Amino acid sequence: MKAQPATMPPSGSESAVGSAPAPASILVVDDDPVVRECYKRVIERLGHRVLCAADGEVALKRLREHHVDAVLSDVRMPNIDGAGLLEAIRKTAPDLPVLLATAEASVESAIHAVEYGAVAYLRKPVSNEQLRSSVAKALSLGKMAHLKRMMTSHFGDDSELERRRAQELARDMDRGLEGLFIAYQPVVHASNGELYGYEALMRTTHDPLRSPLAFLETAERLHRMYDLGRAIRRIVAEPLDTRTDIQLLINISADDLLDETLYSTDTKMATHASRIVLEITERASLDRVADVSARIARLRGIGYRIAVDDLGAGYAGLSAIAILEPDIMKLDMSLIRGIDANATKRSLVQSMLPLARDLGALVIAEGVETEAEKAVLCELGCNLLQGYLLGRPEPLPRA
Ligand code: C2E
Ligand code: CA
Ligand code: CA
Repeated sequence: MKAQPATMPPSGSESAVGSAPAPASILVVDDDPVVRECYKRVIERLGHRVLCAADGEVALKRLREHHVDAVLSDVRMPNIDGAGLLEAIRKTAPDLPVLLATAEASVESAIHAVEYGAVAYLRKPVSNEQLRSSVAKALSLGKMAHLKRMMTSHFGDDSELERRRAQELARDMDRGLEGLFIAYQPVVHASNGELYGYEALMRTTHDPLRSPLAFLETAERLHRMYDLGRAIRRIVAEPLDTRTDIQLLINISADDLLDETLYSTDTKMATHASRIVLEITERASLDRVADVSARIARLRGIGYRIAVDDLGAGYAGLSAIAILEPDIMKLDMSLIRGIDANATKRSLVQSMLPLARDLGALVIAEGVETEAEKAVLCELGCNLLQGYLLGRPEPLPRA
């Protein structure tokens, strides 16, 4: 059926306000040649082209061969009647406006007409004025229906894609949580190499989220940061039950700070609070956390200590130090890597150490990979060291 090609809006609509309507093609179907001729004349005077058919069968043939913008059909006809024609049209041209006209309106045919979306049900004899206004209305309804369909198929496709992507992400997120485990990386005293504690770093067996940053980003996009933070907190402190010799450094995101369950006192973490340091990154803006200072005070009240993470990573100033008054300052590995061969890094670290000492904070140098880096950091007076040289993040064997 050629009516209403999917990519072309139907003609017959007004191209501009006040201008004559663009010519459209109307198919007139009636077994009475006088009626056909009468409709034809009126419609042609509106500037439209008229195709004629004496019954439903011929009408369907015309529709297959020609582009048609609207159909005006008698209801009572031999072979396929008006209702049958309407039903056949709807299978292939859902937007094609169809006007039905009948002398004796039966309830059944009216119901059928409504069911299959006839745009009007006209009582014969149809006046010229009624015919003109019905044709104009049918053409604009057809155009609207077509535009609506184009828009929903366009935007519908997009949202379908979005929906599928979100579903995939959600599946990844669930699998990530199912496979969640914690790797623990040693932090050692710079002076004698003795163990100070471990930084807890989340991991998952679900491959696409192997990088914790990818996992965090996925959680963020799905607004499931609470789920992730809570799942980590449920398992992270387990080693403290059996390993009474260690303490843990646990990463806390800005979202975690907003989650009331972080402040709960009947959790495994809270039980071991005196051996837990919460690392809060300087990277994540604390601006969006209302009452940061009050929240930090609540955490301290439970017994946690606070570390500021990633210092010197090139992000907003040292404001986090003022807000958090940290017990520990972690120097970002970008300051540490290659410090033995870089005078600027060396003097930066050198100037930060007295600042930390004045604040009563210990300093951890993070990302130590070589003996040369370690030697410089010890010489400068860093308290604690962390990095592949001292140990990789690994699941922690029970004592
Ligand atoms: P981060 O807190 O700065 O953690 C240190 C990162 O440096 C870890 O990466 C660690 O594996 C890596 N690292 C340690 N030593 C070395 C070294 O000598 N050389 C090099 N090149 N890298 C080293 P990881 O585990 O991939 O974690 C990346 C980031 O993801 C973390 O950075 C932290 O911001 C975040 N993250 C990890 N676990 C958690 C968590 O449980 N909760 C939250 N909120 N964030 C987490
Ligand atoms: Ca950290
Ligand atoms: Ca860090």
